[in-house]
Amino acid sequence: MASQGEACEERIYEFDDDLASEFSALLGVDALQILKRQHEEDHKERMKMKKGFNSQMRSEARLMTFVTYESFKSWTPQDMAAAGFYHTGVKLGVQCFCCSLILFSTRLKNLPIEIHKKLHPECEFLLGKDVGNIGKYNIRVKSPEKTLRSGKAQYQEEEDRLESFEKWPFYAHGTSPRVLSAAGFVFTGERDTVQCFSCSGCLGNWEEGDHPWKEHAKWFPKCEFLQSEKSSEEIAQYIQSYEGFVHVTGEHFMNSWVRRELPMVSDQLFANLNKFPGLKELSVRLDGKADVLSVLPGEFPNLHHMEKLSIQTSMESDLSRLAKGATSRGFQNLENLDISMNHKITEEGYRHFFQALNNLPNLQELNISRHIPERIQVQATTVKALSQCVMRLPRLTRLRMLSWLLDEEDMKVMNAMKERHPQCKCLIIHWKWIVPFSPVIQK
Ligand SMILES: [Zn+2]
Ligand SMILES: [Zn+2]
Repeated sequence: MASQGEACEERIYEFDDDLASEFSALLGVDALQILKRQHEEDHKERMKMKKGFNSQMRSEARLMTFVTYESFKSWTPQDMAAAGFYHTGVKLGVQCFCCSLILFSTRLKNLPIEIHKKLHPECEFLLGKDVGNIGKYNIRVKSPEKTLRSGKAQYQEEEDRLESFEKWPFYAHGTSPRVLSAAGFVFTGERDTVQCFSCSGCLGNWEEGDHPWKEHAKWFPKCEFLQSEKSSEEIAQYIQSYEGFVHVTGEHFMNSWVRRELPMVSDQLFANLNKFPGLKELSVRLDGKADVLSVLPGEFPNLHHMEKLSIQTSMESDLSRLAKGATSRGFQNLENLDISMNHKITEEGYRHFFQALNNLPNLQELNISRHIPERIQVQATTVKALSQCVMRLPRLTRLRMLSWLLDEEDMKVMNAMKERHPQCKCLIIHWKWIVPFSPVIQK
């Protein structure tokens, strides 16, 4: 296992001294001295930081930790997450979830995976050992490659199922074998894949806080054992409370076409947008992708021709990337913006959204419809901020907001906006709920 503790004393030297000598000669400063000072500072920070295997960062959802990452001149968050790193929140420090290597200089010319190999060649994640890394698109449902060794009959009893967990991998200890076996699962011996003795459904990639019954109900709702242990109300409740993958069950993944097509699209598409220098219109529907906007490139050097951008998803999304693209003047010509999604957006997310709006001078059509009228979190300030932004969009002629929760106060703001916005030809608001209280509703 990855060594714990001893990494504290370790000295990591991230700088290229040859390059520093060159700089010194070129600029007439002692770059080596500067690097040395920087090295000491980084070392002090490094000593303070927590070390040891970080089970919570096994998933390439590591990518999400880079949402607030300031430097976009560095390695890409995608590359860093793929190389095992997540953002620590201390300066620009990134850390490997497996070997705890901490890097502060992410602007070097080498790739993160190369630096990782150079400084910590013994990292078990890099060596390809099973340390529980969960690939970005590694889905929970596993195809049952082999049926249970001794057949279903052997695992009717919970205690027998529990015994199969003897070699349950260390990284999956956040999900308890007792709860898994109670929920009908038997450990297959492969990674952290478990299989239901009744429906044979296979699940893996367990993360801390996962609820085995909920996963069972979500992915294999027709299972006889599940139905015998839980009431149909309970099953419905589990499915309803499941975030994402709406209307998708395990059966979908059994058909290989879904497995091949569902995951791949967005990342590659967005990462390669720069290859279309004259791109004017982009429309993507990406149900099932955890955070669509997080895969947008940090800067949009070639997207200033873009006139129409439509992103539809039913998952929660962070809007900071969009805002960053817009504020770095990436979307100067954008005329039509359509982000229909189930807006589970935080207050900060809304701030980013309004920031983006303020930087779209040519916007003519804006569609901010929601798919599903649940989990709505509208702060009272949201509508006001929206109306303020809209008033600063001189060319906006059409605004669509389906299934927004608006109270009387909000409607007054909307009406005032309409009056002071004579060029607006079309304002569509469906599902205008008028409620007698301030519109802060969660769940
Ligand atoms: Zn490592
Ligand atoms: Zn089952």
